Formats: sequence, structure tokens, C-alpha cells
Amino acid sequence: MSDVLYIIIPCYNEEAVLPVTAPLFLEELTELIGKGKISPESRIMFVDDGSRDSTWDIISDLAKKDPHFTGIAQSRNRGHQNAVLAGLMEARSRADITISIDCDGQDDIKACEKMVDAYHEGCDIVYGVRSSRKTDSFFKRTTARGFYRLLSLMGVEVVYDHADYRLVSARALEAFADFKEVNLFLRGMFPLVGFKSTTVEYERHERMAGKSHYPLRKMLMLAFDGITSLSVTPIRFITGFGVIVAILSLIGVIWAVVTRFMGYTVDGWASTTSIICFLGGVQLISLGIIGEYIGKIYLETKGRPRYIISRRTDDDKNDREG
Ligand code: UDP
Ligand code: MG
Repeated sequence: MSDVLYIIIPCYNEEAVLPVTAPLFLEELTELIGKGKISPESRIMFVDDGSRDSTWDIISDLAKKDPHFTGIAQSRNRGHQNAVLAGLMEARSRADITISIDCDGQDDIKACEKMVDAYHEGCDIVYGVRSSRKTDSFFKRTTARGFYRLLSLMGVEVVYDHADYRLVSARALEAFADFKEVNLFLRGMFPLVGFKSTTVEYERHERMAGKSHYPLRKMLMLAFDGITSLSVTPIRFITGFGVIVAILSLIGVIWAVVTRFMGYTVDGWASTTSIICFLGGVQLISLGIIGEYIGKIYLETKGRPRYIISRRTDDDKNDREG
């Protein structure tokens, strides 16, 4: 018996691109079913992340037209990571394999086949990795490289140039479900799940239609979240830096006392002001970083739900039938 695949696709205000990419997803799924690599029970599951446009209507129309399409909607916009999580958890009891992919056609849909093949060869997690960054602007390319360097410097294990295009087996998903954290950075969490994994290269294209929802501000937030959710190295840096500053201050104090007793009159205004300003800056940054961690603890202790599903295309179907 072949395995049931669920392709999880987060969508936020994607009415422009969904009608273009949905048939492509279906084509790939039917092809894989035709080749006998996955079961005919496999599905394409859209997760509407609280869109304000007609995205949900498009999804429910698709579900009515073809049984391979199904959809769930989040009760409000919670962001890409939470939308993917909602889809994964929804598919968990029904799928043997899940693949998460963006809905804008940027990730090469054809790579799904290679991922499924790797799964059949015994891998539980297959990371989609971009083969080049030709389509990126110079700015995005450099910031992305910097981001990965920074992450590994901070001890966060991530797969280089992997976003959230990834195959996960039911077994790995079951283990992942025990990761209860509210602050999500999926691409840093899956390597912690373990199991046999591999990478599959694909070419990343331009968006087929519509526009990106990840402006620089959101990208920086994701990067910062990634580091502070998965590593305590920044806090250690602060401690280390504090020790260095303390040693330097001690030398400074000795120097001040010695010069005082040697009878030099020091016009110390400039140096005093610089030291105060410098230390003020260091202290504020350090407090900010520590505050970020305390904020995270605060969010985790509240243990609020990470997603709330408000509608399912299956419900609509049952309404019609019942
Ligand atoms: N997305 C989402 N919720 C959001 C923002 C984005 O579900 O709050 C989805 C979006 O529909 C797309 C994917 O996440 O499928 C990636 O977003 P986008 O293409 O805008 O980002 P980029 O590829 O430019 O980084
Ligand atoms: Mg995109």
C-alpha cells in the first residue's frame, strides 16, 4: 500500500497567485499518484492564515471542484510559521508524509518527487535547499548569508539555505508534536527532532503573482526570534562582555589612583563622559537582550494555543451533505 501525502500550503491574502499555482500543485500530486509513489488518498491542504481577501472562497471552490483539495482556516492572521504548524498538526492523523511549501510558486513544485523518493529510501526529514540565489536582490542575498552565519555562530543548527520547503514523515511529525513551544522557528526545530534526514536541491523562482508578505521588518523579526528561541549564547556573550568591561574598569581605576598620587592634575571631563556613555549603551543593550528572553518565558508560561482553526472545507461539505 502506498503512502498518503499531504502537501501543506500556507496562504495569506493570496487571491492573485492561488488560481495560478493550485493547478500546478494538483498536476504534481496527480503525477505522483499516477506513478504509484503516493496513495490516491493524498491531498493538497491549504491553510488560510486569516486572509482579508477572497483567498478562503478560492480554497473552498477548489475543494468543491476536486476532492484532492482540502483547506482549513485560522481564526485570524498568526503568521507563516503558525499557519504551517496548524496544517502539519491537522494532517498528522491522516498522512504518512507531509510536505510544506509556499503557495506563490517560488519553490519548485517538481522537487516534491525527489523528496518523496528520498523518503522511500528511508529518510524521515527531507530539507528543500535552494541551489542558487540568482533571483534574489543583492541586499537579500547578503542579509540572508549574514543571517545563516549569525545563527551558526550562536549555536543554532539550521540547514543552509533551507526555508520551509520540507518533507516530514508521520514518525518525525509525531515526535515534533511534543515540542510545545509557542515561539516558533520551524527550520531550527526540525533538526532537533533528529531521525535520518537529507537535502534536495531546487531552483527558487520569482513569485508567480501577488507580492511578498515578508518585508525587511518581518525578516529581521524572524531572524531575531530564531536566535533567541533556540540559543542562550547572546546572554552568555553579555556575561563575557561584562567580565571584560569589569577588568578594563579595574585597570582604569588603578590608573586613576596612581595618577592621582603621582600628583598629576587630570582634566578628566572628556574621558569620564565617554565612559559613562559607553557603559550606558552596553547596559541598555544587555538589558534589552535579557528582556527579550524574559518576554519569551512570559509567552511560554501563558501556554496560549499556537493556532486556532475556525473553518474546514470538509465542514462545508458535511453541511451540504447533511
Ligand atoms: N504567509 C502566511 N501568513 C503570513 C505571511 C505569509 O501564511 O502572515 C504565507 C504566504 O501566503 C506564502 C508564504 O507564507 O505562502 C511565504 O510568504 P511570502 O511569499 O509573502 O514571503 P517571501 O517568499 O517573500 O519570503
Ligand atoms: Mg514567497
